[in-house]
Amino acid sequence: MDYKELANLIFPDAKPIEFYEEKYKPRDLKEGAIVTRFAPSPTGFVHIGGLYQALVAIQSAKKTEGVFFLRVEDTDQKREVENGVTDIVNSLKDFDMEPDEGMISDTEEKGKYGPYKQSLRKDIYQAFAKYMIELGKAYPCFCTPEEVEEIRKKQESAKIRPGYYGVWAKCRNLTLEEMAEKIKNGEKYIIRFKSPGREDRKIKYKDVIKGVVEFPENDQDIVIIKADGLPTYHFAHVVDDHLMRTTHVIRSDEWLSSVPIHLQLFNEIGFKAPKYAHISPIMKNDNGNKRKLSKRKDPEAAVSYYKEEGIPPQAVKEYLLNIANSTFENWRKANPDKSIDEFDFNLNKMSVSGALFDMVKLLDIGKNVISRMTAEEIYEKSLIWAKEYDEELAEMLKNKEYSLKIFGIERGGNKPRKDISKWSEVKENIIYMFDNKFLNAKQEYPYQVISDKESITKILTLYLEKYYDENDDKQEWFNKIKALAGEMGYAEEVKEFKANPDKYKAHVGDVSTVLRVALTGRTNTPDMYEIMKVLGKESIIKRFEKAKNELK
Ligand code: GLU
Repeated sequence: MDYKELANLIFPDAKPIEFYEEKYKPRDLKEGAIVTRFAPSPTGFVHIGGLYQALVAIQSAKKTEGVFFLRVEDTDQKREVENGVTDIVNSLKDFDMEPDEGMISDTEEKGKYGPYKQSLRKDIYQAFAKYMIELGKAYPCFCTPEEVEEIRKKQESAKIRPGYYGVWAKCRNLTLEEMAEKIKNGEKYIIRFKSPGREDRKIKYKDVIKGVVEFPENDQDIVIIKADGLPTYHFAHVVDDHLMRTTHVIRSDEWLSSVPIHLQLFNEIGFKAPKYAHISPIMKNDNGNKRKLSKRKDPEAAVSYYKEEGIPPQAVKEYLLNIANSTFENWRKANPDKSIDEFDFNLNKMSVSGALFDMVKLLDIGKNVISRMTAEEIYEKSLIWAKEYDEELAEMLKNKEYSLKIFGIERGGNKPRKDISKWSEVKENIIYMFDNKFLNAKQEYPYQVISDKESITKILTLYLEKYYDENDDKQEWFNKIKALAGEMGYAEEVKEFKANPDKYKAHVGDVSTVLRVALTGRTNTPDMYEIMKVLGKESIIKRFEKAKNELK
């Protein structure tokens, strides 16, 4: 009996690996092109850290005219959830991060290097496992889970390193005949890698992000094919990233310590290993303690959170790029209108330790992103959000023409307003502009310097009787408010007021505040001239009436 016969006994139908080498030819890309992937498991929760990895991968591929593909790693079928793949595909779609290749729905894919779902690649893994057996670098192991547990217990009580290695790797020393015998007798088995490593030797490798890292060599005979015939992560990674011609494995740094296994596998099977870029997790400051963003504790860990909150995907991406490359922020300031794809993203410049997640900063970026949109875009996007998450807002936005006027206030110029950071803020931001909301609700009127009933009544009455003209331009409009201030005995200019504080009770700004509060119930709004234009005369009259009626 030789290795080849043993291999044939185990995988009689597996194709020679040449078949796959031929089928998945090296890619014809320009020098330096990065081929990389996002390889999530469909376990039902797309984590913001996953999106971050995917974004880093996409930007790396785009910058080098490479390829970004989506591979679904579903070999752990116990952990799989319903709609897991659909959720992943849709999350990427929501963020406008569709892959060049790979899964495009639960069942469909595009690209020539598929299948891109691991559970559909069983034959391929078995072909490569067969090849390893033929080389004498893998073998069937008949130990039951109970026996493996037994070994672990013995190691524990003897205080030695746990695992299936060296003298503990019982089955690696069976003769080929003994192996064949057991197989023929129907004994159950898995396939293990025969590690040539020694724990007392070190390996060094250069991670694209972490720099030079040193580890002890792997000496564990890790499982490559499980009892269900599917591969473990380690083996699938090696086979897939080889056949899909991945140049860079960009993944979470929880895999960093597995690199010795992976490099050894690549080496033993005789393939060139890809480069590795291990990304640090996004951290959270929890009362002074730095910890990973947690699926259980932090709603913002789930990618779905951003959609529900209506934080524009563009803002999330810009924020993540900002974490990835600290030079992004200045680039964005200097190039507010460029596409992020023009940013010179650099994988080498990612920070080695985990960045702190900063919601304030993200929302600030949201404000900038939204401020660059047209009124029409803001209308469309907030309507889409509202239809799913806020019926009342959707109802308000039904009047498109009026909504566009509201969103158009202080927009389009070179200093657009920056008061909306996410779609869930839109309602609160514009609700006072709707008569059916404003006039029918009890309002708070936070009057400031001028706050007595008599003065306010007089200002509102005089303004409508003598000063308001809907055809005024902005200058005339403001001059009228000054004139009104003068008539009331207040300073017409703030400067004048400051020079003679004892002479006046208030100034033109305080009169404006009375008008603003009466109109909107707020002290802080965008440009009041524009607001009055949008509201129109009839509404202004009603609002002043209401304000007077509600004076205490
Ligand atoms: N399925 C693995 C995970 O979700 C992928 C790691 C990798 O990118 O290779 O952690």
